[in-house]
Amino acid sequence: MSEQAGSELARTVAGSLARVRARIQRECELAGRRGQDVSLVAATKGFGAEVIAAAIAANLTDIGENYYQEADVKFTRVAWPTYPVRKHFIGRLQRNKARRIAALFDVVQTVDDLAVAAQLDRGAKEAGKPSLDVFVQANISQDDRGGVPTDSCVAFAAELSRFEALRPRGLMAVGPRQSGAVPDAFGRAARAYDAMRAVVPGIEHLSLGMSNDMGEAIRAGSTMLRIGTALFGERVKEKEPVR
Ligand SMILES: *Cc1c(COP(=O)(O)O)cnc(C)c1O
Repeated sequence: MSEQAGSELARTVAGSLARVRARIQRECELAGRRGQDVSLVAATKGFGAEVIAAAIAANLTDIGENYYQEADVKFTRVAWPTYPVRKHFIGRLQRNKARRIAALFDVVQTVDDLAVAAQLDRGAKEAGKPSLDVFVQANISQDDRGGVPTDSCVAFAAELSRFEALRPRGLMAVGPRQSGAVPDAFGRAARAYDAMRAVVPGIEHLSLGMSNDMGEAIRAGSTMLRIGTALFGERVKEKEPVR
């Protein structure tokens, strides 16, 4: 991409980000919360490395990707700044990719299986990482998207703490597609998060909310939104390219 096209994309993303931040601020005020207590992960799946570059140029410091292979290719093409930009894995975890995911990402938000967790732990250590931040993915909807049942999240997070390199830091959940079911589902996630925070040290992130349910997420207490479409427009492809 030419330098000119790159800076135009950066301006477009900066404009969308300003609108998203204004919306977050409004929703926070309505919910009696402070805007600075809600952080933003830019979900860049399906877009090229230039979109990650534009997100960084707009001062976003957290990037979320769903597919190992896609992220691996794109990350090598990004000129990363000298300050830290955190890479979040927000896709379905496959056991055979977990070690590489642990090496490539700073935060793995979708842990819902102890065998996969063991691979993440191993991968982090092999990569020379003293620790790897992980979130428990909670299942809060009928839609088949994996996740730990909300009443097992505390026990699961406690199990994760037993791994040498894994640091449980939060709870992540994907809301149901049916919008009427979102508030109840987010409520269940928030209660599981509170329960986890009361018992497991170091828990401080509730990763809840995407472009179409960020208002409900903020009302439920989300501290971390994962936003793609509202920042970058509609994705062309949803699926992982080649395995
Ligand atoms: C794609 C994705 C997002 C962002 O979704 P948008 O609707 O584009 O904002 C957030 N979380 C997860 C887990 C995703 O896969």
